[in-house]
Amino acid sequence: MPEGHKTHHLAKLHHSILCDHPLRITSPQGRFRGDARKVNGQCLSTVRAAGKHMFYEFDSGRIIHVHLGRYGKFRQHDAPPPLPVGQVRMRMVGADHAFDLTGPSTCRVIDQAVRDEVVAKLGPDPLDGGRSSVAWENVRHSSKPIGGLLLDQAVVAGVGNIFRAEVLFETRLDPYTPGNELSKESFDRLWRSLRKMMRTGLKYGRIISVTSREAGVPLSEVQAKDRFRIYGKTECPSCGGPICTPEIAARKLYLCESCQTQH
Ligand SMILES: [Zn+2]
Repeated sequence: MPEGHKTHHLAKLHHSILCDHPLRITSPQGRFRGDARKVNGQCLSTVRAAGKHMFYEFDSGRIIHVHLGRYGKFRQHDAPPPLPVGQVRMRMVGADHAFDLTGPSTCRVIDQAVRDEVVAKLGPDPLDGGRSSVAWENVRHSSKPIGGLLLDQAVVAGVGNIFRAEVLFETRLDPYTPGNELSKESFDRLWRSLRKMMRTGLKYGRIISVTSREAGVPLSEVQAKDRFRIYGKTECPSCGGPICTPEIAARKLYLCESCQTQH
């Protein structure tokens, strides 16, 4: 599932490529056809991300709201694009480039009031100036485990299963610690780790939790299989012990029980 670094990365890319031109917006698959007509031919003024949500704002005030969900994906083409392949929910064609969107969980046209409602339900986004003090208030008033709270978009926006595992490992936190038993010091370390890792993800367009020293190469050259410390691994890179994979908040969490003991 694309996490917050990906939506911010795509928003920047789409903003730089598509803004200030009239866009041809269609729905080759048909499911977005009625909404596409509401914005087809209009000029895009800005593209923003909030957590895992994306908002394409047009001069008319109308907004396309996209949530990629687990399977959503954009494909980029030169304009004019080739015939659509697969179930293309939305095709956006600008002056020089085009994007096809397949498999999103949300793709609809909304107005500012609905956008504000969606954003109001989100916790702070570390990539969008979100404040750690707000996240801390959300965490410390909950008896749910921190390993579950991190995936709750109302607690902190943009974190998915990979960031969750990697920041909990980097900070050596026990994911079962209830939010209201987590020390402020541990929370501060967690937030710093998260912000740093999400910024690195935004910079490189993919999640990388290892340092270049650990990888032995510059981060731009890290192989896909070497970019995580714990996610998808079977052996702990610190102690060599086994990685276990309990379900927390209905998703598999990669965890070293020997190393992750702090509260
Ligand atoms: Zn370990």
